[in-house]
Amino acid sequence: MPQLHRRVLAVWVANCFGDVFLLGSRINHSCAPNVHFAYNSALGKQTFHAIRDIEAGEELAIMYINGTNRTRGQRQDELKKWGFRCNCPICEDTSRGRKKEEKRVELFRLDQELATYTRFNFQHGPEDSWKKALKAAQRMAGLQKSEGLLNRDLSISYHDAARYSARLGDASMALLWAEKELEVDRYCVGVDHPHYSSESDTVRQLREAVESSLPFDQSSIKWFDSCDSPSNDNEACAVM
Ligand SMILES: [Zn+2]
Repeated sequence: MPQLHRRVLAVWVANCFGDVFLLGSRINHSCAPNVHFAYNSALGKQTFHAIRDIEAGEELAIMYINGTNRTRGQRQDELKKWGFRCNCPICEDTSRGRKKEEKRVELFRLDQELATYTRFNFQHGPEDSWKKALKAAQRMAGLQKSEGLLNRDLSISYHDAARYSARLGDASMALLWAEKELEVDRYCVGVDHPHYSSESDTVRQLREAVESSLPFDQSSIKWFDSCDSPSNDNEACAVM
């Protein structure tokens, strides 16, 4: 292959996430992003949403990897394919960076713990394991919020907290967590995203269950049947 073609191909691959975008592909990576991007199948477009207030002149940053709950070494390994080493405030070797990294290590540990509960105990597991999973999900959400990690990883933690609250028969808490999840998805992907409307339906069903005088039957809500969070649907969002 001619050298020029090689270079063009390398530039394409380095800037492609589903497609190459005139502006979107120019946004740099940060392990603490202020923008979330997602493919919206209803619009047929990649969309970019601010996930927190952004100062005038502040650089926009997205996350190239699913890395909020990963350690520095894991993040840097994954970023090698883009050919750079991340020097964001979380990765920098300063006392502030090391403190931030301690929180990422804890998030990784909690994520692994939660994955174990979800994989082995979600459908039939003892009630005690659901309680532990709920505690892990709540702790993750608290850490992510305090660290300003407001992307869809936070929404997944809320989703897990809602699911395990429902498993434990606590419809009111399931509703509370599901509403928080919906709010994160609202600002991350927008109300015009198909995932948002299906999630709104689930929250409506939960609210009806809480407001009704009938005993809570979590099996009536399809959302809880699956072990997989809808936040992980590739179609719903290319979370990077
Ligand atoms: Zn970084």
